[in-house]
Amino acid sequence: MSNDNSTAESAAKTSNFIHQIIEDDLKSADAPKQIVTRFPPEPNGYLHIGHAKSICLNFGTAEKFNGVCNLRFDDTNPEKESQEYIEAIKRDIRWLGFTWHEDVRYTSSYFDQLYNWAVYLIEKGNAYVCDLNAEQARAYRGDFTTPGKNSPYRDRSISENLTLFAKMKAGGFAEGFCSLRAKIDMQSSNMNLRDPMLYRILNVSHHQTGDQWCIYPIYDFAHGQSDAIEGITHSICTLEFEGHRPLYEWFLEHLPVASTPRQYEFSRLELNYTVTSKRKLKQLVDKGIVNGWDDPRMPTISGMRRRGYTATAIRKFCDMVGVTRSNGVVDVGMLESAVREDLEVNAKRAMCVIDPLKVTLSNVAEGASEMLSLAVHPKLDMGERELPFSKYLYIEKQDFSEDTSLGRKKFKRLVIGDYVRLRGAYVIKAEQVIKDDSGQIIEVIASIVPGTVGANPAPEFKPRGVIHWVSACHAVPCELRIYDRLFSDATPDKNKEKPFTELINPDSLQVIPRAWAEPSLLKAEIESGYQFERTGYFVADADSTPEQLVFNQTLPLRESKAK
Ligand code: ATP
Ligand code: MG
Repeated sequence: MSNDNSTAESAAKTSNFIHQIIEDDLKSADAPKQIVTRFPPEPNGYLHIGHAKSICLNFGTAEKFNGVCNLRFDDTNPEKESQEYIEAIKRDIRWLGFTWHEDVRYTSSYFDQLYNWAVYLIEKGNAYVCDLNAEQARAYRGDFTTPGKNSPYRDRSISENLTLFAKMKAGGFAEGFCSLRAKIDMQSSNMNLRDPMLYRILNVSHHQTGDQWCIYPIYDFAHGQSDAIEGITHSICTLEFEGHRPLYEWFLEHLPVASTPRQYEFSRLELNYTVTSKRKLKQLVDKGIVNGWDDPRMPTISGMRRRGYTATAIRKFCDMVGVTRSNGVVDVGMLESAVREDLEVNAKRAMCVIDPLKVTLSNVAEGASEMLSLAVHPKLDMGERELPFSKYLYIEKQDFSEDTSLGRKKFKRLVIGDYVRLRGAYVIKAEQVIKDDSGQIIEVIASIVPGTVGANPAPEFKPRGVIHWVSACHAVPCELRIYDRLFSDATPDKNKEKPFTELINPDSLQVIPRAWAEPSLLKAEIESGYQFERTGYFVADADSTPEQLVFNQTLPLRESKAK
């Protein structure tokens, strides 16, 4: 997929078939009074860029149609879930700029109702307690080509089932000894309808309900009913649930629910060079391959946030990819260019020298310092910043050359005997180099052209170009963390030879322990994005201390051609 700006702009208007469906629903005779959607994460990890798409879709759809969107934790797997994940998910949604309707909801707060509905199904002869173990149940289930066989326990009487289910709830059976199943159709061509499990025994305490339950409903038995309880009108999920829709509808049909939500599926967001699965991302964290869920290389919302991606850019990207039913892999470069576009317009400007070369100005007095003032942003009104200038400066090593034969157009930087402009300061002329015993340049002696701050020099002093700099006496040392894509493989979780955990780009993190920043960066706020002039987009990291500033590189200024 191409990712230049023009494509990005036109893609921003891409279609959203769900919106079309809702527009039609709103015109129909039995139009819902209000559109109600929900975002239903399982709190078993941190949210990633794929969830951002689902969040934008669910919350964005509610906003567009003046409806509401609930946040519901789909917490039916207590073993894998935790309060830490719940808090992180709430933080991420708020940061993206969305507000859920009323209080946070939990599937677990419907456990009583779900239990009563399970009893209801038993009473109607639509559910039974089955003693097949997992392996036997699998064998009875058949497969895509073989129809299933009825369980020998399928014809238990209603009263026996009621007694057994009550005993399951009371903790009267060992884990895995039996389960509650719906009585649907073991011959169905849809495997999901072959007497799916509704409840299993799990002797695990739950982050919300503690030790109240030792049986837990299966996702399928909980999801649609929770939607019905909350009066969800449009239950939007990803395509892998398409085959579950008949079951979703079967439950709503066979239970005395007060409302009938409808399920719609859209295609998952997949990005190249990226893994989008909480379970897989957790492996990266657990194996110590990354430094936590919010490592700036992670495609998690918290990782992207720490990396300096903005909520605006992520939302724009989600708009750009659109909502369809066709699967496809999106180029991660498209996300990166959405971030770049946002930062290009909105990031503050600052100067930081990464690989310093000392410049001594022969015609500036020792100890003299001048305070210059520079706009924080070239176009937006973000105020001014103070920039000290002195006799001793740092410029980038690569911005100087001794080679006087270098053409002015070819090398728009400092060359011995020639002029260059220091950004926001004077035009200077390089006069002499000082080398160490091994012949390395360690210092340049230069002189300023007086009167050139904010003013064009006389034609004979015309600079080759503009370079960034800091005053060596005033600059503050900082650590820079330069990130590249985490994986070396475009489809890391589909590689046949190696697991994704072994396809890590060895250069995904490079630490520059000491770079030199202009002093105004001492006040850089965490998450406030900067363009370090001519270097890249950076953001202050939470690891910064008063003694040591730390900046993460969000992205280089331009997409590298090698990729
Ligand atoms: P994961 O495999 O990462 O755990 P999931 O689908 O199991 O993903 P949930 O917590 O159940 O994670 O997801 C909450 C919502 O986010 C669901 O509606 C799900 O369909 C949606 N979602 C998850 N991953 C993506 C994705 N890559 N693209 C779009 N939507 C997604
Ligand atoms: Mg899941």
